[in-house]
Amino acid sequence: MENLFPTPLEQLRGIGPKTQQRLNDAGFRTVGDLIMHFPYRYGDYTPTPIDQFIDGEKVTMIATIVSPLVISRPRAKVLVKFNVQTYGIVFAVQAFGRAYLAQQFHSGDQVLVTGKYQAKNQSVQLDEIKAYQPEQLAQFVPVYSLPVGMKQSYFREFIAQALQDYCQQIPEYLPDDIRERYKLIPLANALTWLHFPQNAQQLKHAKRTIKYLEFFLFELKLAIKSRCQKQTQVGTPKQLDILQLRDFEAALPFELTSAQQKVVREILQDLQAPWLMNRLLQGDVGSGKTVVSALAMFGAVSSGYQSALMAPTEILAQQHYQSLQQFFAQTSLNIAILTGSTKVKARRELLAALASGEIDILIGTHALIEDPVVFAKLGCVVVDEQHRFGVKQRQRLRNKGEAVDVLYMSATPIPRTLAMTAWGDMDVSVIDQLPAGRKPITTKVVTKKHWNEIIAFLEREVAKGRQAYLVCPLIEESETLDVQNAIALFENIKQTLPKRQVGLMHGRLAPSEKDEVMEKFKRHETDILVSTTVIEVGVNVPNATVMVIYDANRFGLSQLHQLRGRVGRGEHQSYCLIVGPDGQSESRERLEVMEKTTDGFEIAQYDLEFRGPGDFFGAKQSGLPQFRLADLIEDQVILNFARADAYEIAFQHKLTPTLQAYVEPVLTSHQQND
Ligand code: ADP
Ligand code: MG
Repeated sequence: MENLFPTPLEQLRGIGPKTQQRLNDAGFRTVGDLIMHFPYRYGDYTPTPIDQFIDGEKVTMIATIVSPLVISRPRAKVLVKFNVQTYGIVFAVQAFGRAYLAQQFHSGDQVLVTGKYQAKNQSVQLDEIKAYQPEQLAQFVPVYSLPVGMKQSYFREFIAQALQDYCQQIPEYLPDDIRERYKLIPLANALTWLHFPQNAQQLKHAKRTIKYLEFFLFELKLAIKSRCQKQTQVGTPKQLDILQLRDFEAALPFELTSAQQKVVREILQDLQAPWLMNRLLQGDVGSGKTVVSALAMFGAVSSGYQSALMAPTEILAQQHYQSLQQFFAQTSLNIAILTGSTKVKARRELLAALASGEIDILIGTHALIEDPVVFAKLGCVVVDEQHRFGVKQRQRLRNKGEAVDVLYMSATPIPRTLAMTAWGDMDVSVIDQLPAGRKPITTKVVTKKHWNEIIAFLEREVAKGRQAYLVCPLIEESETLDVQNAIALFENIKQTLPKRQVGLMHGRLAPSEKDEVMEKFKRHETDILVSTTVIEVGVNVPNATVMVIYDANRFGLSQLHQLRGRVGRGEHQSYCLIVGPDGQSESRERLEVMEKTTDGFEIAQYDLEFRGPGDFFGAKQSGLPQFRLADLIEDQVILNFARADAYEIAFQHKLTPTLQAYVEPVLTSHQQND
């Protein structure tokens, strides 16, 4: 709807050059810009409650005139004075330069008055006055954010004018069957009613229609892009060895959950299809994404290609390497690992084996995307914790083969449609189930006052042979933030529990130091690991059963959920203590969500509502689309339908001429890029 009516503003009746300039300065260039500038609220004439009469501020009242209107001429100016009464209080009204008012209004009239309130003499400096007519339904008068120096009533008239003159020409984007299906109204009506609704019903219909339309048009462009890509990006359909895959799956130490089976099917279909896979695999912490990636990589290998998996840290890469070695132990596959710490000689041999095709699967860190890394025939790439890599990094790995299928993995589950909208044209698979038999982690929100209890609890678990994580947001003391910090906490715990082995982990350690700390914890040479959030991702120490998170209100809920996911990975009951602020507060209530649920999707949903999508996705994902009326969080149901409809129309080539014209720029730019 961006280019609705490119007609320049000067062609609109009643706009003089000065006003035109003002509107231009505020970014309004076309009639469409005006029409698409929606009211941010309605009801400019809602009476101001008496306790909100603030000196010097604008007030609105429905009042009765209780005096004659008296004209005087102080210092050669016309001044009209009269009294009105509302809330049983009499206010003196003063209007300069408007002698005609004395003709129009009389004592006893019911009027609607707006003006600036002055407390010292209980008076109102008149702005607007009109006869009060209850049937006018003053609460539906639109209120706009305004260009500098322009009045609401004036601006309102331009909008009305624009709608009146151009209403007939508003194109209808939505096909009839869709409009009928959801009882949406024609766009021309919707726009008119959105600006000037006569009742709540009209406003509701207008909003529904425009929200749907905004999502629909956005998703339609995505759909067309995706359709173009599937047509032109000719991948190589891979001939998978299904029998070999089946044997591999059967020999795994566990049975796949049905959610895992479903996403494996989706992935294998992509590998076999003539287009390139570009798929995001979402699954809660512990939902078993690694084994799914193993099946994807094995699928590609079974059809004669090499596969690679890239993880954001050395620790994670090592961990994947170990898990995958176990999974592939029964096969004759050749797996290798390449990271920044791979020694020169080993690296040279590895690169040679990779280039000759001896290595089937390569696991690693960013080291994988360096130039000397050359594959003989790379066919499938898995990127773990995809949000930790930049677009360019992901692209570089993909470019190491001819037609590489890519699977991105993410443990921050967000609603499916939202994910697809945020990440453009990626397909999304979701593992929405945990393997059976997981014990829910017992979670409790506590405060710093519980220090002794926390220590006692730690000691008890450690005495049983378990291990614990203590996480806090900052590394060092900060003067501005009153937060627990890792170094102080580390010293404190060492003193409090002198017999226990305590480790310290934070982002300022060199990579090799980090690995050493982590390895020690894995080997159970340390009992308690004090850390900043660097341990957040994927670390797997099944013997750790306690997670204590300090200053938890500094974290998003999804992040807390990730941290909590570091425990509960073994056979023992696990616990998460969330140290929040004292007393009852909004941020404490938010933390208590963690006590109520362990479902990452539910938590993400809550987080999204609480923080808003911009904050939730963070700067890296700033590609989120902006809508004028529709809200990505509140209106997810509409988004789901609009997306499904747009994809159906795009892929079944059911575009109306209006829609065809709308997506034309997408088609053109796609052709140019190829
Ligand atoms: P994440 O999705 O967080 O990366 P992982 O892939 O690390 O999860 O899996 C967590 C643990 O669950 C691993 O120890 C893995 O071997 C195990 N696992 C995965 N799938 C299943 C399953 N279907 N049944 C039982 N255990 C499973
Ligand atoms: Mg993982």
